[in-house]
This record gives sequence, structure tokens and C-alpha cells, in this order.
Amino acid sequence: SGVLYVIGTPIGNLGDLSPRAKHLLSNVSVIACEDTRHSGQLLKKFKIKGKLVSFHKHNTKLRIPKLIKELDAGESLGLISDAGLPGISDPGEELVLATRQAGHDVICIPGPCAAITALVSSGLPSQRFCFEGFLPYKQKDRSLILQSIAKEKRTTIIYESPHRLLKLLKELYDLCGTNRPLQVARELTKKYEEQIGPTLGNALEHFTNNQPKGEFTLVLGGKPNSEELKKKNNVELQEEMKRLLD
Ligand code: SAM
Repeated sequence: SGVLYVIGTPIGNLGDLSPRAKHLLSNVSVIACEDTRHSGQLLKKFKIKGKLVSFHKHNTKLRIPKLIKELDAGESLGLISDAGLPGISDPGEELVLATRQAGHDVICIPGPCAAITALVSSGLPSQRFCFEGFLPYKQKDRSLILQSIAKEKRTTIIYESPHRLLKLLKELYDLCGTNRPLQVARELTKKYEEQIGPTLGNALEHFTNNQPKGEFTLVLGGKPNSEELKKKNNVELQEEMKRLLD
């Protein structure tokens, strides 16, 4: 029986393609990818000859039965996306489920993921966290999710495109306030990698003055609980009193 290999690819720096990923990309019978031209470039850079077939959100339903047939015939399949881990805000999860349901093995070859890379480099609590991916565009759905994110106590990771970043920062600012911890990761693993933070107020000011360009992942600190807030307010009050008395 065939095996589906879900293979992580770089999110910028090509040095992040693992030797195991290279080996499998060279040896599977077929590689399903979002964009054959984009992934063709990746394979070319590594001198890998592979048979690419397109697998994107618009042809998922059509492609799955064909790919399962290949697995039934004992072929091994690779699944990659344009960047990072397939299945994380990218196509993949339906194929993985269908493969398992057809009785074939799925093996993931881990690689970079923008969400985890941004979380780890933010310095915000990472013991427990939420991943929201891209927020919905429809205003009603969006408002509901934004409200729940604002109340969330755990760190939340959000993906956003450059032309919507400022709108998202304003929406979060209105609900979470200027002091909420926020770290915006820009162009992770790339030449112009940058971190903008450490609060929502700072990030909003920065991107009001600098047009967002590149790829962005937001890491928003959780809502402080009332005890923490009281403590913080007390400390601030005491400092203010000290200043006034000095
Ligand atoms: N599957 C990918 C992963 O594992 O990270 C995510 C794919 S999703 C379609 C693309 C989004 O991920 C971008 O719009 C951006 O929010 C985030 N992203 C991808 N690469 C990034 C990078 N190098 N720096 C910051 N964010 C990135």
C-alpha cells in the first residue's frame, strides 16, 4: 500500500529544506502541490526531478479520488504547499483524512511553520496558545471572532496579508487597547526579517507610518486576568505616588 508524505518546505530561507524532505521529494512517484510553477522553481533549485500535479483549494475534491487511486496502486505520494507546512492555512487536511480513511499511512516530514516560528520568537507565553490563521473577511463573522480573540487569555497567533494588516491592527486596537502585548513578525527567515512590538499601540503607530510590505504573522498576548491587572495598576499607582512625593 502507498504512503502519503506530507512534507514541510521553507517559508523563505531555502536552507530550511531538510535533507529528509529533499530525499523524499526526489523519491516519491508524484508530488501534489498548490502551484506547479512555484514548486517547480523549488525543485529546480535543488536539482530534484519530480512529477508535480496541482492540488489547490479549487480542485481538492476532484483530485483526492485520483490521488487515492495512486496510493491504492502502491505508489508513494508527496504533498507540499507553496510554503511551510501543508494543512496549516494551506490545502492538505482533506487529503490526509481521505488517505487515512482509505487505509494508507500518512507520514509528516516536519518543516518550518510561520505560526510556530513567530510564536517562539515573540517572547509571549507559549505554554498554551491559540491559532486563528486568517480571520474571516465577512464583517459579521469577523466581528464575532475578533471579540473572542480580545477576551482570550492565551496567546493568539494570526496570519494576515500586507494589504489588510493595518485594518486588522485597528480592529484589535479598538477591542484590546494600546497596551496589549503584540509582536508582529515580518518576513521570517528572510533577509529583511523584522519584529515590531512590543504592544498593539507601537505596532499600529509603526504601520501607520510605514506601509506594510512582505509577509506578516501576528502574535497577540492574552487578556490579562483581573488580578494581574489590579497588581499592575497598584504598581503603577505606587510609582505615580512615589514620583509625586519625591
Ligand atoms: N502553511 C504555511 C505555514 O506553515 O506557515 C502558511 C501558509 S498561509 C497561506 C501564508 C501566511 O503565513 C502569510 O500570509 C503570512 O501571514 C504567514 N507567513 C508565511 N510565511 C511567512 C514569513 N516568512 N514571515 C511571516 N509570516 C509568514
